[in-house]
Amino acid sequence: MSDAPALLPVEEARARLLGLCAPLPTEWVPGDDALGRALAEDVHARRTLPPWDNSAMDGYAVRSQDVAGPLPVRLTVGETVFAGGHPTRELTPGTCARIMTGAPLPPGADAVVMRERTRSAPDAPDAVDILEAAGPGSFVRPRGEDAKEGDVLLRRGTPLGIPELALLWAQGQGAVPVPRRPRVAVLSTGDELCRVDEPPGDGIVDVNAPALALAVRRAGGVPTLLGIARDTREAVQEALSRAEGFDVVLTSAGVSVGDHDFVKDALEALGVKRHFWRVAIKPGKPLVVGQRGGALFVGLPGNPTSSLVTFELFVRPALRRLLGHADVEPPRVTGRLEGSLSKAPGLAHFVRVTATWRAGELWAKPLGTQTSGALRSAAAATHLLHFPRELSSVTDGSHVELVPLSWVA
Ligand code: AMP
Ligand code: MG
Repeated sequence: MSDAPALLPVEEARARLLGLCAPLPTEWVPGDDALGRALAEDVHARRTLPPWDNSAMDGYAVRSQDVAGPLPVRLTVGETVFAGGHPTRELTPGTCARIMTGAPLPPGADAVVMRERTRSAPDAPDAVDILEAAGPGSFVRPRGEDAKEGDVLLRRGTPLGIPELALLWAQGQGAVPVPRRPRVAVLSTGDELCRVDEPPGDGIVDVNAPALALAVRRAGGVPTLLGIARDTREAVQEALSRAEGFDVVLTSAGVSVGDHDFVKDALEALGVKRHFWRVAIKPGKPLVVGQRGGALFVGLPGNPTSSLVTFELFVRPALRRLLGHADVEPPRVTGRLEGSLSKAPGLAHFVRVTATWRAGELWAKPLGTQTSGALRSAAAATHLLHFPRELSSVTDGSHVELVPLSWVA
């Protein structure tokens, strides 16, 4: 294999790929279309929230010095302030206001006594007995405790979960600036392939295209299926030449060193600059990455599990970078190996495991068949266990790095 370059370590391959990606142009979208996407710019508070000191409890707004002496203390009740209402009178010594959660504090009040710590005064209907002292600020939500106008509320690159969107909505901000979604073309290659809606005969059903399209969508991209190209240089080249206007073009299969592996040649013929080919990883060694203009080309291996694993470890981070996420690396957690593993050094293995929580630790058990073609172990896997390139064994009970899979239901 004189033309096969040295294998790139996984981390270096990912760093090179990410180096080719930058956040796409910004669009403003309604909050519910921004869920899971990242902010394209810092967002500043437009309003001070809460806008006024207000009550954290249903109870009585008091002057704290009135309730600092021996208890109980009898106070005269003036007005009642509801959420949405406005106090009209300043508290004078010896008086209080009945107040509901979220209602603005009357001027002069600096504390709230919750209703459960009071008793109505049977002989004096306009009074209440306060049973507990309340220091200044007690059960008061001060003006601006959540946000002051002009504060940086959320930084660029922050993923928008439900609370982040709630924070923006509370500011009266319904539209959110996010990088637009990447447009991703997905092409399958192979003479043996047929579509899932065709009678398969003795052919192989193209599962990569629909599976990768779902992975793209789950990662926040917009997939377009380009169909199946047969194993000739011309067919692959023709199919790829139709892939105009995409941010990313994903192919599967035909990137290895087989006689019918034409993806690399086709990319070269189309003027795609190859950045790397072949990564020190199993499954997924033949991965190829190139670029032309603003479009990234990623040739994934053909075995369905290999293409999903390499999607997870390389393509998903790249899509996250295009989507403007600050944090793009695959997530990792520490677990412990149940059983033992061995291999020859040279390739990092990403072993399909099921991980379960037991006695305060995550125990990862390798699944039966780990060959690249086996889909059942991909279906059962919850995590990929990283068995580092330079190691040849991992012993029972060792601490291991686990990548939670985004493809699980
Ligand atoms: P290749 O990389 O072309 O050598 O393909 C590796 C293996 O993956 C072969 O067994 C192919 O039949 C299989 N394969 C390739 N593409 C697909 C696909 N789209 N769906 C399912 N299996 C595939
Ligand atoms: Mg093939």
